[in-house]
Amino acid sequence: MSQAPIVPDSGPANDYAVRESPRAKHVSLRISAQGQLEVIVPRGFDCRNIPAIIAQKQSWINRVQRKMALRQSEADPTLVSPFPDSIDLAALDQIWQVSYRPTQASGIKTIVHPNCQLVLLGDTKDWELCRLALKQWFVQTAKQQLAPWLARISDQVGLNYTRVTIRSPKTRWGSCSSTHNISLNSKLLFLRPAVVRYVLVHELCHTIHFNHSPEFWELVSRHESRYETLKAELKKGHYQVPHWME
Ligand SMILES: [Zn+2]
Repeated sequence: MSQAPIVPDSGPANDYAVRESPRAKHVSLRISAQGQLEVIVPRGFDCRNIPAIIAQKQSWINRVQRKMALRQSEADPTLVSPFPDSIDLAALDQIWQVSYRPTQASGIKTIVHPNCQLVLLGDTKDWELCRLALKQWFVQTAKQQLAPWLARISDQVGLNYTRVTIRSPKTRWGSCSSTHNISLNSKLLFLRPAVVRYVLVHELCHTIHFNHSPEFWELVSRHESRYETLKAELKKGHYQVPHWME
């Protein structure tokens, strides 16, 4: 995934960042918690088409950005963002397309297709039901991905742990107990792979140093020389978490 510089729109109100993703099949728009508009495009997409796409979604963009500015995200989640049409799992370099198919059923059934297609079937007008379905799918995916990832890094750096648990806490990205049980935040899947790796290395190093002493950081740096940069990036990581997973 490459990060393009911020390109100013022709209109006065919209600044947006363009990100090219090799996995994207369609153009999708995303607005960060800070109100920054991000346009995710497939590889080789002609960026001259972007202003027209933005123009089509302008009223939605305005509405969401206004709402973000007011910082009233708790008040009315349906106004903050409509149902996501794509989900960017940056850690896995996957962009999932989400579609909603209303049926007479009262609940939601989630169908996971290969090629990163997610279909929600059922009472799809009920945002709370959809949100729970997305969350459930997401946490399941995180469990499938993060546990073996930690095992691989553990082998790589030669540091052992007892067991791993995947949870979805508000703040912590990871923790390690005195008995070397590691807990990882499912939302790590929204972060870049290098940042995730840093978190895994960090927690594994706590199996040797149960503190943040200079010796601890020395050990971290031995396994991840760029840890300071990655640590700084992790601090802003919660901006990558979409509203439905907050
Ligand atoms: Zn720590």
